[in-house]
Order: sequence, then structure tokens, then C-alpha cells
Amino acid sequence: MTDVLINDNFSGDTEIDCLIIGGGAAGLTAALAASESGAAVLVAERENRLSGSTALSSGLIPAAETNAQKRQNINDSKKTFFADIMEKNCNSADPNHVSLCVENITLALDWLEAEHGIPFHVLDDFLYPNHTNFRMHAVPEVTGEALVNYLERAVAELDIYVSCNLKIVNLVKSNNGRILGAIGERPDGSTEAISSKTIILACNGYGGNSALIAENIPEMQNAIYFGHAGNQGEAVIWGRQIDAKIDHLSGYQGHGSVAHPHGILVTWALMMEGGIQVNTNGKRFSNEHKGYSEQAVNVLSQPEKIAFNIFDERLCALGRKFEDFRKAEKANAIISADTIEDLASKLNISIGHLCETMLEIDALAEQNAVDTFGRNFNSKNRLQPPYYAVKVTGALFHTQGGLLIDSQARVIQKNGSFIQGLYACGGAACGVSGPDVAGYLSGNGLLTAISLGYVAGKSIKAIEL
Ligand SMILES: Cc1cc2nc3c(=O)[nH]c(=O)nc-3n(C[C@H](O)[C@H](O)[C@H](O)COP(=O)(O)OP(=O)(O)OC[C@H]3O[C@@H](n4cnc5c(N)ncnc54)[C@H](O)[C@@H]3O)c2cc1C
Repeated sequence: MTDVLINDNFSGDTEIDCLIIGGGAAGLTAALAASESGAAVLVAERENRLSGSTALSSGLIPAAETNAQKRQNINDSKKTFFADIMEKNCNSADPNHVSLCVENITLALDWLEAEHGIPFHVLDDFLYPNHTNFRMHAVPEVTGEALVNYLERAVAELDIYVSCNLKIVNLVKSNNGRILGAIGERPDGSTEAISSKTIILACNGYGGNSALIAENIPEMQNAIYFGHAGNQGEAVIWGRQIDAKIDHLSGYQGHGSVAHPHGILVTWALMMEGGIQVNTNGKRFSNEHKGYSEQAVNVLSQPEKIAFNIFDERLCALGRKFEDFRKAEKANAIISADTIEDLASKLNISIGHLCETMLEIDALAEQNAVDTFGRNFNSKNRLQPPYYAVKVTGALFHTQGGLLIDSQARVIQKNGSFIQGLYACGGAACGVSGPDVAGYLSGNGLLTAISLGYVAGKSIKAIEL
């Protein structure tokens, strides 16, 4: 049972200053920051290797006024970044929490680069939806897997203990509410008791927990979950038992472009640079530039719950910059044709309707006009033959609701006090996207993982040791 135990006499087999539950971007960043203060740190990871949703992700981290941006002469400001996040979530996220993330992501990325040798550059060949400036930072490989590898290598250089195959099943606290440690379970069923004055919850959200999804995000209960299966929502489950403040459980990141049935993410850059989505009737059904998160719901409400991304050779070249796209090509998910008629017949959709749609967007592009969904077309991004298409569906990527924390990442209780020694970061904490799928601005996931991981790790020194 995933319970919080109360035991004033708790004594662990292992004693540590800071136990971090979860070895994704949030947990590993927190471990690096906590370790700098001299704390003895243990990262407990339930899987047999460090990965999480972070390793499945594209690894793109938004931040403003970083050294990487300065090197690339990108003029950006934290103020604009903050405004972009708030505009996307319709001012439904706590502005202080958003500020905390915006301020600390800059510090964290510059610090990861300078102190831990993790090289970042900014993608500057297309703008992600609703971002005013180029601010998506990535490691050279531009994958989440590589990001985890860099973090893992940095952790290995310090005296940080990492224990894989250790699933934390219980938190232990004292009668007066102070964290005392946790109990972990090994795959063979044996248990380990860990004494720790502080615990950082970095175990992400509840995307892998179908009961919590049905309860909080019913529209996604039958959708594909594309995130890490090990994210079972312990932060929320434990949080409820200790009267923690929890918010925005209905918030999540969806994605409207997962190759079907291959299950490979197809970059939204194609849509931002001129591509369109049509349904099985060959008709467009939305403004693709609003955001890929809410597009999950739009695609899932189309016939057969699918859509086709239509693009061209120029966009294919852009797509090939992403490993996922190259994988989709290798898996024969990408279909090409010299004419729209051939493409429609290969996709088995109405030739007449698809031709009509293409004529419509071509006319809009020629006139630099806005369509009825509110999307702006321009002549620069006009689609040219040969044409390409990929069949996609909508999916749930990760949840955005979670524990409310203060500016030191301390978990707040309903009565306004703190659970002494308990911190949360990444997907375990409430995010910056508000309660709705449309509130997710690209990159909000790794933004909160790395910025709040940094804040939580730094807080260990200031308060507990
Ligand atoms: C396909 C995909 C693409 C994405 N692309 C991007 C992107 O480009 N940019 C972006 O900002 N966001 C992206 N995201 C979202 C992003 O991946 C997440 O927001 C982010 O990785 C969360 O980091 P985390 O450290 O909180 O969680 P995770 O990386 O999921 O790490 C949590 C870890 O905790 C472990 N764990 C859970 N419970 C326990 C337990 N009880 N005991 C021990 N260990 C436990 C899990 O096994 C896991 O390894 C994407 C998500 C997906 C699915």
C-alpha cells in the first residue's frame, strides 16, 4: 500500500540527509543542487535505469536571458517569457509560482552548463507555438535521452548515491508532522527502510495511473498515454493523506501528433512552418498554431480519432533534424506523393475534398490571409509538391496538477503550514499550465522539472542541515 506511515521511533537501515524519489530531470537536478551543500543524497529510482518521461521527451527546455541565448545573439527577456506562459494559461496559474520557475530556469541552465559541463544551445530555426522568442534549449543531440545521460554523468562525478530498482512505497513521518524517512521495495519484494531528514518528491505526476486519470481527466481515460508508465501519482496519493494543498489536477499536456499506429512523436515544427492537419474527410478542423497540447482533444474528436499531417519536402528536411521524425521515416510512417490526388488516394481519403483544402490554404498563403479558425497563412511557407503525410492520433503526455509548494519548494498543507522536510519538484508539484489542456505552453514540463529541481535541491542546505 502506498501509505504515509506515522512512526516516532522509525529507524532506517540506511541514513541519509536527503532522499530524492525519482531519477528524471527533476530528481537529478535536485540531487546535483543538494549535493553541493554537502548533504548526503540518495536518489531512489523504481526502474532499472534512470529515464522517466524525461528520457522519452524531446528534451527541449524553455528559458530566457541564458548564456546560451546570449552566445547566439537571441534577444529575449524573462518578462516576455513570463507573459507568454500566463497568456497561454489564461492567467489561471499562480503568478508567483510562474515567476519562481522563470527566474530559476535561467540560473539552473547556466549553472548546469558552467558547473556540470552540460552544453546547451537554442533551437533557432522555428518558433514553438505561442513563444515570442527562440528559447528552446537542448543538448547537442536534441533528445531527452541524451539530457538524462548528461545529468547522470554529472551526478556520477559527485558523491551522490543512486539506487535503481528501488520503488518508494511509504513515506514515514513523526506524530508532529516531521519527515523521518521512507520505505522502499525491491523487485523481489524485499523492503528497505531509509532514514532521511528531508525528502524531495521528484516522482512526476499520475499519467500512468488510470484511476487518477479517470477521476481527474476523463476526456483522456481512453487515450494513449505516451509518458513514462512508472509515473503512478504517489505525490498526489501521499499528498492527500497528509492534507497537502493540491491543485490543477485536470491540467495536462496532450499532443495531437503521434504517428499512428507506430506510436512515434511527429514534431509540431511541421505545423508551425506551414503544414496542416486534415481529417479522414480531407478537411481541416482547427487552428494548428494554437498549440499541440489542446490539439490532442481536437484530433481525438475527429472520425476514427485520427488526422493526417500534410507537409512538403522543405518541411521534411526540417523534421529530419529530430530523431523521432527519422524514426518515423524508418518505420514507413511517412507517405509521399508527387501530386495531391496521388496523396489522397494513398491515404484513402476523398481526392476532391483534399484538393479543395489545398486550394484554400494556397489562396490564403498567397494573400497572407487568416482562415476561419484564426490561423495566419503566408506565402513564405506555402506547401509545394512533392507532398508528404503521416497518420496521427492524439495522446496524453503528462499531467500538470500536483502539490502546491512555496518559493523554497516546500510542500504546503491545507492549513497553510509546511510538512517539515518535504519538498516537491517537476511533475510532482503543481505546474504552470493551469487546470486545462490548452494552458500548456511548449516546454512547461521540463521548465518545472529543472527549475524546481534546482530550487528544491538548493533549499536543503538553507533549511535542514
Ligand atoms: C513524448 C514526450 C515528449 C516530451 N517533450 C518535452 C519537451 O520537449 N519539453 C518539455 O518541457 N517537456 C516535454 N515533455 C514532458 C517532460 O518529459 C516532463 O514534464 C518531464 O520529463 C518531467 O520530469 P520529472 O523529472 O518530473 O519526471 P520523470 O522524468 O518522469 O521522472 C520521474 C521518475 O520518478 C520515478 N518514480 C516514480 N514513482 C517512483 C517511486 N514511487 N519510487 C521511485 N521512483 C519513482 C519514475 O520511474 C521516473 O523515472 C514530454 C513528454 C513526453 C511524454
